[in-house]
Amino acid sequence: MFGRAMLRRCPNCGGRRIFGRWLVLADDCPSCGIHFERQEGYWVGAVAINTVATVILFSVVFVGTMVLFWPDVPWGGILAVVVVMNLLFPIVFYPVSKTLWIAIDLAVHPEVRGDSAR
Ligand SMILES: [Zn+2]
Repeated sequence: MFGRAMLRRCPNCGGRRIFGRWLVLADDCPSCGIHFERQEGYWVGAVAINTVATVILFSVVFVGTMVLFWPDVPWGGILAVVVVMNLLFPIVFYPVSKTLWIAIDLAVHPEVRGDSAR
């Protein structure tokens, strides 16, 4: 399920074309019919995944670059890279954060998800 989610596919069946555009997730999977949004506020988990992934990436790049260039750390260069990275990464990662959240939900509540399939 998590492998399918990382590929922006339906975590339940692996079906493709669940995203109309990069950021627009279909309401239901065209392959298995599972309804993605179970309730209002459902995507807060995806936002949390996206935020945690962004912080981890920022920390790795920031600390890694600091260690690599110590003691002559190019602070201006690091700042430019992490600002651009922190603006773009959450947008690029947004669909994967949603499919990962669906996969986590399916792993925790599989019987509830099976009931919502059409
Ligand atoms: Zn599916």
